[in-house]
Amino acid sequence: MKKILNFIISIIFPRTCSLCGTTLNFSSKQNICNKCLEKIPKLEGLICHKCSLPLPDGGATCSDCKSNKDIYFEVLKSPYTYSTQMKKLIKNLKYSRKTFLAKDLSLPLAEFIKKENIDKEVDVVVPVPMHWFKKWKRGYNQAEILATGVAQIINKPMYNALVRTKYTKPQFNLKKQERHENLESMFDINKKYVDIIKGKKILLIDDIATTCSTANQCAKVLKSLRCKIVVVTLARAAF
Ligand SMILES: [Zn+2]
Ligand SMILES: [Zn+2]
Repeated sequence: MKKILNFIISIIFPRTCSLCGTTLNFSSKQNICNKCLEKIPKLEGLICHKCSLPLPDGGATCSDCKSNKDIYFEVLKSPYTYSTQMKKLIKNLKYSRKTFLAKDLSLPLAEFIKKENIDKEVDVVVPVPMHWFKKWKRGYNQAEILATGVAQIINKPMYNALVRTKYTKPQFNLKKQERHENLESMFDINKKYVDIIKGKKILLIDDIATTCSTANQCAKVLKSLRCKIVVVTLARAAF
């Protein structure tokens, strides 16, 4: 009965691929067609061993990771580059209430985490938090939906163990120094989870890494509880 109903609904409101617009099979649970999903450019080739920044000229680490001793995470990894497709998906995810995309994207994200054996290294999953007012306005935190999906697949608990204490301007329009200042003491531990996450190995999830400063500030706060932090973001932008 449910199948028939779904079929009728799919005729009246056909679901389409969020990237190419083709009509999807009514039984498909995805919102991106397989063809498009396979074509999303992956982060490959020469990248920094620490933060995954593409290094077209080669080398093991980027100049930032080489000179900066204040990096608090073990490693930052991403399955995808910040390509045109990824831009479109993340924009839809953030501003068009297309939260179903986060569920779709948590699948390849979890596959990547398994392929890299990160799931075997970590105890808990924690999303990069959003300020409560922003979350209230948007209705959700896309990093949290991604983290929930990943946690389910890799079979680990997910906790909103961090809080964002400052309501800040979007990072994207800021210069590097401003970003740093913008982020200083912006995160805190959610007191509820102190005992649960103390000393744990944490998989920190976000949608995109641009300069890594957001992830690093989160890691800094978690490090105060002697945690070890591995960061995985859906996309890695080269700034
Ligand atoms: Zn498509
Ligand atoms: Zn680096």
